[in-house]
Amino acid sequence: MHDVIVIGAGFAGCAAAREVRRAGREPLILEARDRIGGRTWTDDWDGQRFERGGNYFHWFQPHLWTEVVAAGVTPLMPPYGDRVHWTVGEEIRTGSRAEREALNESAWDKYCAGSWEILPQPHAPLADANRIGRLDGMTIQERIDELDLTDDERALLMVECQGVASGHLDDAGALSVVRWHALSGHSLALTQETAGGYTIAEGTIAFLQPILDAAACELRLEAPVEAVEQEGDRVVVTLRSGEALPARACVVTAPLNALGSIRFEPGLSEGKRAGIALGQAGLGSKVMLRVRTTGGPVAGMHPDHPFGFISTIFDLPGDEQILVCFGNDGAAIRHGDLAWAQRELDRVVPGCEVIGMNCHDWLGDEWSRGTWGIHRPGWYAHHHAEMQRPEGRVILANSDFADGWAGFVDGALESGKRGGAWAAAAA
Ligand SMILES: Cc1cc2nc3c(=O)[nH]c(=O)nc-3n(C[C@H](O)[C@H](O)[C@H](O)COP(=O)(O)OP(=O)(O)OC[C@H]3O[C@@H](n4cnc5c(N)ncnc54)[C@H](O)[C@@H]3O)c2cc1C
Repeated sequence: MHDVIVIGAGFAGCAAAREVRRAGREPLILEARDRIGGRTWTDDWDGQRFERGGNYFHWFQPHLWTEVVAAGVTPLMPPYGDRVHWTVGEEIRTGSRAEREALNESAWDKYCAGSWEILPQPHAPLADANRIGRLDGMTIQERIDELDLTDDERALLMVECQGVASGHLDDAGALSVVRWHALSGHSLALTQETAGGYTIAEGTIAFLQPILDAAACELRLEAPVEAVEQEGDRVVVTLRSGEALPARACVVTAPLNALGSIRFEPGLSEGKRAGIALGQAGLGSKVMLRVRTTGGPVAGMHPDHPFGFISTIFDLPGDEQILVCFGNDGAAIRHGDLAWAQRELDRVVPGCEVIGMNCHDWLGDEWSRGTWGIHRPGWYAHHHAEMQRPEGRVILANSDFADGWAGFVDGALESGKRGGAWAAAAA
């Protein structure tokens, strides 16, 4: 019998397994995919290392930065230029970054007004439920609609919020924006920095692998879990292959939107089932476009667009660049259709010839069913605490359930550490 079975080899799963090992127990990791990393994925595109999933990090993220320093990897700032566009209606405006950011900040500050009072302890969202109650009950769209904004402010605020939400504004919870803002020191500039400030030169995998190595445990890839059953003082984890593995405790790190495919016996609490049925609203996309253009790095913002938030991530030799485009609707992406990509890019950033496109379908991926964790209205009032509560010998742990940087790698580490420590004690 295993001490602790950890389901999932993303950051939460690897951190949980390391915690189990540190407590002197033996973990086993079961991962559905043929790779570790989950919603992070360092890959190669014609010799260029790039990240299909999470890759922007910041020293405001305490769990993550500890790992970055320990792994000795190199934080890199992406290239920034002053060629900035934003679209209002169908009209592309061109200006300086400072000009755009002044408009952007004015709108953002109206949205986030009172954030110090709403979330004085952003790492403890439930510290005072009364403070967060109003925004927790609203969608982002409802919050925007109650603000007095110019057309430019409204367009820019919508793109910023769609960037935060990776989803539809009438679906995502209004508190998510203020939570991110509060975690980033209550400032738009710092929110943008935590969202896109730094990548890791060696790739995200370079600080995930040491965490897995420290867990010093068996990892089984291509081992999708079908069921988690509790029988007396043990848990039996059954793979889709039919193999049954007993353990003393289990940490389930499947993302919220993928949890529904695992059968729990006895069933999870009514509160957890309601949380899983609600799911999370991050259903957007991250598309990489290889383009030919002159004049340095580009940036563009267009609300309700499949490439809503665009910026250069690699300035390559020979007038080539790789752009990253964050859209709010993963279902709108026409994978591999360069003519479509060209038409859409022209609506946001003029003067770029599209020569390649690369994108993972996180929405269609059965092990994620979405991008990053953005909670729907009512999450904190009804689901957050319950999702963290262990049941018998089973605990859920994932970035989607973190107290602090939920939806980020930092949140995965926070939640994984908590889950692993609990399971080691329960085993
Ligand atoms: C496009 C994109 C961009 C992002 N950008 C950033 C960013 O810039 N910065 C940042 O900090 N975060 C970013 N994120 C979010 C970040 O990547 C995630 O929050 C974090 O990686 C989640 O880690 P996790 O371990 O909690 O969950 P996951 O990474 O989802 O890991 C869960 C693991 O469980 C496995 N699994 C699921 N079901 C089963 C099953 N039935 N059996 C066995 N295994 C199963 C999955 O395959 C997966 O490996 C981004 C995410 C995406 C998708």
